[in-house]
Amino acid sequence: MNATQTYEFQAEVTQVLSLVINSLYSHKEIFLRELISNASDALDRLRFRAIREPDLLTEGEQLRVRVEADPELGTLSISDNGTGMTESDLAKDLGTIAWSGSRAFVEGLEKAKDPNEQLQLIGQFGVGFYSAFLVADRVQVTSRAAGQEQAFRWSSEGKGGFTIEPSERHERGTSVVLFLKADQKQYLDEWRIRDLVARFSDFVGHPIELLCTKTKDGAQEKTYEQVNRASALWQRAQKEVQPDQYVEFYKHLSHDWEAPLGWKHFHIEGTQMFAGILFIPKRRGMDLMDPEPKHGLRLHVRRVFVMDDCEDLLPRWLRFVRGVVDSEDLPLNVSRELLQDSKAIAVIRKQLVQQTLDLLDEIAASRPEDYETFWKAFGAVLKEGLHFAPEHRDRLVKLVRYESTAVAGLVSLDAAVDRMKPDQKALYYAAGFSKQLVETGPHLEALKRRGYEVLLMTDPVDPFAVATLGKVGDKQLVNVMDANLPLDETSETPAPEAPTLFTRIKEVLGDRVSEVRRSTRLTESPACLVTPEGGLAPHVAQMLRLRQLEVPPNPRILEVNLDHPLVKSLAELCAVDSARADVEEWIRLLHEQALIAEGSPLEEPAPFAQRVARMLTQLVTVRAAQTAETSREPPS
Ligand code: ADP
Repeated sequence: MNATQTYEFQAEVTQVLSLVINSLYSHKEIFLRELISNASDALDRLRFRAIREPDLLTEGEQLRVRVEADPELGTLSISDNGTGMTESDLAKDLGTIAWSGSRAFVEGLEKAKDPNEQLQLIGQFGVGFYSAFLVADRVQVTSRAAGQEQAFRWSSEGKGGFTIEPSERHERGTSVVLFLKADQKQYLDEWRIRDLVARFSDFVGHPIELLCTKTKDGAQEKTYEQVNRASALWQRAQKEVQPDQYVEFYKHLSHDWEAPLGWKHFHIEGTQMFAGILFIPKRRGMDLMDPEPKHGLRLHVRRVFVMDDCEDLLPRWLRFVRGVVDSEDLPLNVSRELLQDSKAIAVIRKQLVQQTLDLLDEIAASRPEDYETFWKAFGAVLKEGLHFAPEHRDRLVKLVRYESTAVAGLVSLDAAVDRMKPDQKALYYAAGFSKQLVETGPHLEALKRRGYEVLLMTDPVDPFAVATLGKVGDKQLVNVMDANLPLDETSETPAPEAPTLFTRIKEVLGDRVSEVRRSTRLTESPACLVTPEGGLAPHVAQMLRLRQLEVPPNPRILEVNLDHPLVKSLAELCAVDSARADVEEWIRLLHEQALIAEGSPLEEPAPFAQRVARMLTQLVTVRAAQTAETSREPPS
């Protein structure tokens, strides 16, 4: 028990540490905000625990953060009288990254060679405690957990590992002592610290006390002086809060080091009284697509912090929102279980969805560029709302954006409707795995020729979301691959039907296709496949298969372009002798090239390759013979 234990950092921690130091060198001062945030969180947690365990707090005890510089030792310490950490907490919290996606994250970080990209990734991750090593070459954390007598000291130079040994501390809580690097001694200066606290941590809900030197009656004396306002920012009137205060509050809350894209500060009075601030980050957090994303909103009850990551306050499709909500009416001892079916929470949640959508409307209307940034980061998540919360469809319809064949960048559905040609019968969209794939697909040929805009939907969530969109005004959204494409005949003198060819194609392809028919949507390609009503789009079927789901047979309709020379010649051959072996071969190729053109995998790639090789052999042999013939002819 008295021995010093030596530990190694988890591999991810070592990597994060060196990357933090390499990429955040010009943002060193954030360490103070991070450590004060941690201290303030520990105070919040203690105050909350004390509701159930009142003995944890002595009467009149003031919860506070203290910052002290010791110029002789060259140390800066940040102390709190919060929850503290046990010996095993120290080893776990300050030696591992407790997040399942951390390995993938670190790998992503290492691949990102560009320092700017690394910086952004680090920002999404939240550097937290490890930022201490930006300014210190040694860090000591002495902590005594609430309800315990024994304290422990964690020490590290940030390389390889750390030690933990028994120690002493006169009160509950944690002190983080930074042995400042030789070139970072500026953080011993009282005014420098005051300035940083005022900028970064003014809204921290607990007093931050700085040990100051005062001259009194000619003698120097040391006293603690409160250097922040310590009042809840969200309780203040909007007009009293400056934009940079919102920004710093967001950073404190989210551990993001970049400013948010926007925020919404509100005070609601009604069946439930509550106030709060919601923020939209600029970038995705690393865990956005995790089955269990870490963050949500922070819930307070009458100023007392109650819980982090309160998922019940917002639906999953708004999981990118950060912020704080403070209720006047919920009981202080509210638990996660209680929240799940609380009527009060349902009322608050409904309001928060409205507030978030209002905020997004505002950004979309007044700052389209920022909205585009938002959409690229979180559009896929917001679109989940169309599927899971169709009651918000009318608001979401205004907020969705897509890439399009008409203009660069993103377009809204309203803008696409405004641009519709007078004879355009529907709002068309092409859906698939990538922009390049869908935009060059054969299904768009006739639409492009007529100058119709086609929206490009390449998100896995699109097929589900688009079902809720249905119509925009009176314009139906139609997939360019749908069998029922509202479109008139392209050519003025349509080619004659080819019944023998169609019958032969159906015979050769059998169950691979449900029907063969003429196409009006092709101009350059000989054939394409379209989805009958109730059928699955090919990329959706592929997506389901990738998720190991059973996909029922999904035969589609083969549409052929009767104006295409290949089809014309095939039809002529068939009319004379449809049983020819080479006709069968060419029909198979026609079907296979239609699959390839839309990006679908071939069920039997090897026979396809053999067919192509046979065909090329014939062609090349004929061409070679012709060439030989020509070279033998005497010059005329
Ligand atoms: P984060 O705060 O994002 O979880 P950190 O690396 O900053 O990440 O901290 C890791 C964990 O260490 C915290 O979640 C907390 O449990 C613990 N911790 C850090 N500082 C303190 C403190 N002053 N008091 C109590 N626990 C702390």
